[in-house]
Amino acid sequence: MPMPVQTDPDAVQSVLKIIFNQTRPPVARCRLLSSGFGPGYMLKTTDDLTGSKACLGCGSCLDACPLLAREPQRRQRTEARTSMALETLVGEDCDRCGNCVLACPQVDPTIKHYLIQTHLVEGMAELLARATSEEMFVFDLALNGDWELSADGKGGK
Ligand code: SF4
Ligand code: SF4
Repeated sequence: MPMPVQTDPDAVQSVLKIIFNQTRPPVARCRLLSSGFGPGYMLKTTDDLTGSKACLGCGSCLDACPLLAREPQRRQRTEARTSMALETLVGEDCDRCGNCVLACPQVDPTIKHYLIQTHLVEGMAELLARATSEEMFVFDLALNGDWELSADGKGGK
């Protein structure tokens, strides 16, 4: 539960651009740029965590990572479910998809909206530009419901 007044992405835009352009997990740095716990957090502790930007160890970022989903053997290296574990398991093989940032409860929604409106839109444009015309034809068919993928990965109606 972030603070009522969250980080203004425009104020940290230059840093966010660098973070989202690097091939390493962005979630920890986005968490540290965020506002931290708001006073209404529900964790059962006598400590006052208001403003804390700490990782909760919830593992949501690891669960949302497509690289770890594709290569589950990477997860055997540690039982930890923290942003540091994500950094260790992914390293510089990051897809730059932004899923970990969107999944993290400690990243301000303002930063998540910035990510969606800038980086993810650019990423989709890059993906479409890279696609061959044949891939685009299949993509169009799939979007129009004229094409279905069978279990063996081959297309068909
Ligand atoms: S979720 Fe996406 S951006 Fe985050 S570490 Fe995994 S591949 Fe990289
Ligand atoms: S999603 Fe959870 S484990 Fe990952 S950085 Fe955020 S608080 Fe930490």
